[in-house]
Amino acid sequence: MRYGIISDIHGNLEALQAVLEYLEAEGVEKYICGGDIVGYGANPNQCVEIAAGLKALAVLGNHDAASLGLKDISWFNIPAREAVIWSSRELSEDNKDYLRSLPQILTNPARKGEANFTLVHGSPRDPLDEYLRGERELEENLPLLDTPLCLVGHTHIPLSFHSRTGKKTGQKSLSPGERINLKNEGKVIVNVGSVGQPRDGDPRASTGIYDSQRQEIEIKRIPYPLEKTQEKIIEAGLSQGLALRLAYGR
Ligand code: ZN
Repeated sequence: MRYGIISDIHGNLEALQAVLEYLEAEGVEKYICGGDIVGYGANPNQCVEIAAGLKALAVLGNHDAASLGLKDISWFNIPAREAVIWSSRELSEDNKDYLRSLPQILTNPARKGEANFTLVHGSPRDPLDEYLRGERELEENLPLLDTPLCLVGHTHIPLSFHSRTGKKTGQKSLSPGERINLKNEGKVIVNVGSVGQPRDGDPRASTGIYDSQRQEIEIKRIPYPLEKTQEKIIEAGLSQGLALRLAYGR
């Protein structure tokens, strides 16, 4: 099975469309969505409708939960909080129902050609909120996994974490075009980065293709017309900073 991985779309319709066009051309058969479909960007309804239409294997993100009123947003920074309140007003009831239907942890069973993996937005021990980005967090989370592969989002930075059996654990930044070999790796946690708001200094949308037959995940970066996305953010009355950061990939 060839899975297209999309995470942290954040209401960025132009980035999502560019990524899906690429993934479709690459012969992706199924989609995996790591949460945060909304928040920050100006097209929450359209992005939710697309994810729902793809019948993606999807989990809830912290911004999705906040837009549903399921989370205390007092600790969100001001632009993020304003965008969550705005998204909550904008989202249709049908789209809220879709987001409400998403689990926080999804375990995909190995059956009928499907791959066995866990999907969470943050981390296995704290699915909505923990940022997985260090060796310590990795070592504490790995024992909680009962599948060989775990896909995460939330940090918006492409990273992989490995626990080779009997060897030391390690983490690795993932460059465009890089392939992560999942054979003989023990447990692996992979973050393919963010579609709609990358934060690793590369403004292009980030995505990944998981080929379960070849047992590898390939990281891809896709350019999109971000000036259009920026205009929409400003027209919607959201923070200018949310528009500006897209150009820097921060
Ligand atoms: Zn996010």
